[in-house]
Amino acid sequence: MSVNVVGHSSPDTDSVAGAIAYAHYLKSTGTDAVACAQSATLNPETTLVLKKFGLATPQVFTDAGGKDVALVDFSDIAQAPANIGKANIVAIVDHHKIGDITTNSPIFFYAQPVGCTCTVLYEMYTTNKVALPKNIAGAMLAAILSDTVNFKSPTCTPADKTAVAALKGVSGVSDTDGLFMDMLKAKSAVDGVPIKDLLFRDYKDFDMGGKKVGIGQLELATLDQVAKMRNDLYKAVAALKADGRHTVLFMLTDVVKEGTDLMVASDDPALIEKAFKGKLSGQSMWIDGMMSRKKQAVPPLQKAFGA
Ligand code: MG
Ligand code: MG
Ligand code: MG
Repeated sequence: MSVNVVGHSSPDTDSVAGAIAYAHYLKSTGTDAVACAQSATLNPETTLVLKKFGLATPQVFTDAGGKDVALVDFSDIAQAPANIGKANIVAIVDHHKIGDITTNSPIFFYAQPVGCTCTVLYEMYTTNKVALPKNIAGAMLAAILSDTVNFKSPTCTPADKTAVAALKGVSGVSDTDGLFMDMLKAKSAVDGVPIKDLLFRDYKDFDMGGKKVGIGQLELATLDQVAKMRNDLYKAVAALKADGRHTVLFMLTDVVKEGTDLMVASDDPALIEKAFKGKLSGQSMWIDGMMSRKKQAVPPLQKAFGA
């Protein structure tokens, strides 16, 4: 029975590239293995990466009961295939905090506090002198760029940069910034997506001092992506505000420039300007360095609303 190598649910590029890379590693070291994913539909970024490097979509794997399984990029039951408790887990390779999966017998368990599972796998290939195919190296490189947001994430470590430098050589990818941009554009594609879907792609309502405040965020490679739909977006934001909210903010976040154009519909625009120490120009204001709703939008708002 071959080992099913699988990443977490809602697969991202790391959990897919990691499954492919670890399955190949196992096969190269004498264990029959097959790369799997928990979904037949992969996200647009991962789809682009597999296509670009000519890799097959992993086999769909949603029920682990009675199977030999290796996990990559997670060790939480909540992110696992069904019946993981009845699986024979033989290995885990990861870069997250240790989850709640337990095993009945000793297993190969290897995790490191680095930015990406593919960085951990790269080290395993190197240490054990396992030959790394060009196309798998490319997917691993893409996964590291994705997980570390092209090295900008606070989770990025020197080991991730070292791995990327080496994987560039193996994969023949010279322009990693260009690859990252292509991935970001795929991930943040807005063309043909209904306005409402864009507004609700990542949206949350909050209670701020008794007032209902909504904040949505759209991550973009460039604000040009939404240039032609700004008026329609604002109409949707204003309509949502009119539906029983004091304020609706829509963060158009430019991941490359590292800032947010904040669209504002509010009963009290001056309060929002004060919260972010900015000045509205028309419907929005640019806030340099704002990338995170949780860390950079919510706290100043709560303060301004006296929440
Ligand atoms: Mg992941
Ligand atoms: Mg990861
Ligand atoms: Mg991720």
